[in-house]
Amino acid sequence: MEIYCAICGRKYEITKIHKDYLRLARDPKSPFICKNCENRVRYQTLEGSKPKKPI
Ligand SMILES: [Zn+2]
Repeated sequence: MEIYCAICGRKYEITKIHKDYLRLARDPKSPFICKNCENRVRYQTLEGSKPKKPI
């Protein structure tokens, strides 16, 4: 199944072993986020939720 990342727009080929395959097969319009963007988003979320250290 071919799918486009909702963030970077790159095309990815996912197989039945992919964790999002069933979800996307059932609902092809649900957003897919690739590994790269997922990591970036997770990193930004972590950074954003960290309390700022006083310098
Ligand atoms: Zn992406």
